Amino acid sequence: MFDKIVIANRGEIALRILRACRELGVKVVAVHSEADRELKHVRLADESVCIGPAASIDSYLNIPAIISAAEVTDAEAIHPGYGFLSENADFSEKVKQSGFVFIGPNADTIRMMGDKISAKKAMIAAGVPCVPGDNTPLSDDNKKNLKLAQEIGYPVIIKAAGGGGGRGMRTVHTEAALLNAISMTKAEAGNAFGNPTVYMEKFLEDPRHIEFQVMADSHGNAIHLGERDCSMQRRHQKVVEEAPAPGITEAQRKAIGERCARACVEIGYLGAGTFEFLYEKGEFYFIEMNTRVQVEHPVTEMVTGFDIVKEQLRIAAGEKLSITQDQVRIQGHAIECRLNAEDPKTFMPCPGTIDQFHMPGGPGIRCETHIYNGYKVPPYYDSMIGKLIAHGEDRQSAIARMNTALSELIIDGIKTNIPLQQDIMNDSGFETGGQNIHYLEKKLGLFS
Ligand code: ADP
Repeated sequence: MFDKIVIANRGEIALRILRACRELGVKVVAVHSEADRELKHVRLADESVCIGPAASIDSYLNIPAIISAAEVTDAEAIHPGYGFLSENADFSEKVKQSGFVFIGPNADTIRMMGDKISAKKAMIAAGVPCVPGDNTPLSDDNKKNLKLAQEIGYPVIIKAAGGGGGRGMRTVHTEAALLNAISMTKAEAGNAFGNPTVYMEKFLEDPRHIEFQVMADSHGNAIHLGERDCSMQRRHQKVVEEAPAPGITEAQRKAIGERCARACVEIGYLGAGTFEFLYEKGEFYFIEMNTRVQVEHPVTEMVTGFDIVKEQLRIAAGEKLSITQDQVRIQGHAIECRLNAEDPKTFMPCPGTIDQFHMPGGPGIRCETHIYNGYKVPPYYDSMIGKLIAHGEDRQSAIARMNTALSELIIDGIKTNIPLQQDIMNDSGFETGGQNIHYLEKKLGLFS
């Protein structure tokens, strides 16, 4: 195991990684921006290094500053967390070239999965089911593009190969709108992602978002840890996640999960990863792979009893996977509510000082947050300030525990989305389970 690592992230995930390091006896270097001196994990770390001004581009995205921090503190590895540089292939490469271990897959894998066209091609080759479409870059040949859309069948979606964060895609319902949509998406993709390549696939009208967690080691072993349902979304951002996904059978879990694990072995995947699927009418369609730990990893940890972050460290240190597929057991049900510093009705971010914070507790409750009394939520970063996770023997008991926990949770001084989460937990459609990705937005349209 490593002696010391750098955590190249902030907030709740940095604290989560620090806790895993403590359990494994690994020393921690926290790197932080000028605005983040008071972060909880910075205070708890063995060492800390300020890597730049508040703006992410000057600090958490500043590759030379992060690598220098690893050099001056004599660390061995760098954990990127999620967001920021976690899926940046150049970062992974530079970390390695500088003599450190990147806790995640190698640069080639990140690059392949970061391009949605090459990711889809790799998945098709590995037998993972994908959204029907043409998995080549769209040309400027209008006639060919019109023909292709006709073959796929409207509605279609034009997607940027280098897109991310729910941006760089456009749905097309009629032939009349197609050519304009292609050129607009190309232009936007060029500006936003520096890559104007777009492709076309079938637009699924009422899918659920279901994703599989995988872990792969450097000895040719890979397992899956079952699936999560992340269909409660607003603007393609997940709001509530749960595991297992309601209504998914053991046979489906095994079939898709094993195919994902096999794909990991075939592409030489390393570490934790997630295969994201759209699920409609009983079928799974791969959309993308996230090559890092995800925000919602705790629901999988709660139902499997398996520590994903500790395993990331072990795998990066060259160890074999600590369990086999046969040892993976899904027990009970877990739900995660993301806690955001935002207005629950307008969704405007709401940074500021937390006057009072009371953490809920009780059986099956887990609170992942870096906030504390007097902590000042800075305006420079994502508005997520933590996550509340409830585990119960079944879905109903997990919802009941979440409801109790939300009623105990106090975050005063700033506005939060706690009222929205309470509303979702008491929604009859959510209670039924298995809603599609448009459900929450439709509901919000009704009550706002
Ligand atoms: P990103 O990398 O930006 O997150 P994804 O490919 O994961 O992009 O897609 C994000 C979201 O966009 C999906 O969760 C889904 O809501 C919607 N989406 C993407 N592809 C399709 C599709 N073929 N049909 C319907 N919705 C889609």
